[in-house]
Amino acid sequence: MKYRQMGSLDWEVSALGFGCMRFLTKKVNGNEVVDEENAINMIRYAIDNGVNYFDTAFPYHSEMSEVIVGKALQDGYREKIKLVTKLPMGRVTKTEDFDKFLNIQLKKLQTEYVDIYLFHGLNKQTFKLVKKLDLIKKMEEAKAKGKIKGIGFSFHDSFDVFKEIIDYYNWDMSQIQWNFVDHNTQATTKGLEYAVGKGIAVVVMEPIKGGKLATPTKEIEELIERAPEKRTPADWALQYVWNHPGVSVVLSGMGSMQMVKENIESANNSGINTLSQEDLDLISDMAIRYRKKSIIPCTFCLYCQPCPSGVNIPQNFRLLNELLWIENKEEQIAKYNTLATSEEELKTMEDEGNASLCIKCGECLEKCPQMIDIPTELEKVHLVLGEKQEISSVFKLFLRGPSFVDKEKFQVVGVDDIGKRETRNPATIWPKFQGLITKVPHKDQSHALAISIITKELAEKGENRFIVCNEVSKVEDVPEGMITETFPAQKYAVFTLIGKLNNLGETYRYIIGDWLPNNPNYDRSPFAPEFEWYDQRFSLKSDYSELDLYIPIQEK
Ligand code: SF4
Ligand code: SF4
Repeated sequence: MKYRQMGSLDWEVSALGFGCMRFLTKKVNGNEVVDEENAINMIRYAIDNGVNYFDTAFPYHSEMSEVIVGKALQDGYREKIKLVTKLPMGRVTKTEDFDKFLNIQLKKLQTEYVDIYLFHGLNKQTFKLVKKLDLIKKMEEAKAKGKIKGIGFSFHDSFDVFKEIIDYYNWDMSQIQWNFVDHNTQATTKGLEYAVGKGIAVVVMEPIKGGKLATPTKEIEELIERAPEKRTPADWALQYVWNHPGVSVVLSGMGSMQMVKENIESANNSGINTLSQEDLDLISDMAIRYRKKSIIPCTFCLYCQPCPSGVNIPQNFRLLNELLWIENKEEQIAKYNTLATSEEELKTMEDEGNASLCIKCGECLEKCPQMIDIPTELEKVHLVLGEKQEISSVFKLFLRGPSFVDKEKFQVVGVDDIGKRETRNPATIWPKFQGLITKVPHKDQSHALAISIITKELAEKGENRFIVCNEVSKVEDVPEGMITETFPAQKYAVFTLIGKLNNLGETYRYIIGDWLPNNPNYDRSPFAPEFEWYDQRFSLKSDYSELDLYIPIQEK
């Protein structure tokens, strides 16, 4: 096993960490339960072969994961590993809940202490709760009592929120979602490196994107077969994460002994900065193709389950996503038809409902770390698989999303133009921007923004102000011919346009003319800026290009 430094902690941790949320299950009296013997065998085999980092959480496997891990760690195994679990933020309502949950978890795990205790799934809202209930103080108290050794958090939100959390406290570790497809979403590579720069250990979850990166399309299989280095798809995904020098542990939710063995072998072959440029180019090609083939970014984490109406949310999303991969609609429709379609059927098929059973109660929305608009996407799944409509017309195949982002106040430096959209020539504005931006200090070059602003006065004339710019951390030495602007914090619906730019007009027409008017929760925020976000995923003429469209929204 290869070992790595755990941030500023004086620990050597195995490159592979065991995620205890995807154990093999079996039906007992009609209920899906963990195959305990299998799980315990896998855990002990992993420890015997050098894995010394285990990650569990209160809700995993209907609150049974910690119990099973506790059993597996008897007979001297506990002392051989670093054990990590998490405070269930979704269940905490008052400060006293901290001690209540930690004590229950220690009991379930049959241990006196956990090596790191995490705030589970921090985002903008749950971080507010951490501050309001003074929960970091509770962490420190527990540490002083020896019940926890380190303090950290797992995370699902944007880079801005990640940075705010990192800057707030001297954390021991942060756990983020990061893989070769998603390195630009949530905390992003920038966030990973920011944490590492502060001496905070980074543990990566979802390196294989909930298993998706282990099941390639034919096109991706062909790419892999042509590579001189022979690896499985899962191994390529894992090696990409291990290649980054900032990553301490790569977590894999392992569900079979075969997976444990394969992952251990991968970890034994891992290294920092060991992938060649050829390897990285291949991974980049794979990423482009995977992104195109994943309409709904569900990672099958199951946090949204159970649904009060019995909808098996991830299974419905899986069927739809697979449709693009296997391109056999009849087969997917047949699988969709095996799900329950009524309350009557749910009596014998608990939590196995199809998308049509969603009553849009919204209960699942806050639970989804991928910020998927679950009821809206379920409706589309049913149109395609239940009512057999064309996927391209239902999903606007060139469009993914929306996800929802709370963007903090930001400053830009760029060039602008005021006038009518239809007479504007982008071919003159972009080169001017590219010529001048090189002189601007403190710029973030990971992406460029094309911002559209409409004021009341401009609207009356049918005009807008168009700014092509970079975000800057500080406004200084703005060259002649450039402007600077500051935009306030704002909530956005973010759509990703996939493919060539000539679909841009149709995409905006859909968002403004269809999605917004029919959305039960949000209106467009009047006079707030909307913008296009161009980063390295964008390529002018590629069918696989990606461009994010940020639409400012407010609650109805
Ligand atoms: S919105 Fe639909 S899918 Fe979500 S919890 Fe409610 S009924 Fe279930
Ligand atoms: S819809 Fe969201 S919460 Fe539910 S399984 Fe998928 S990613 Fe997880």
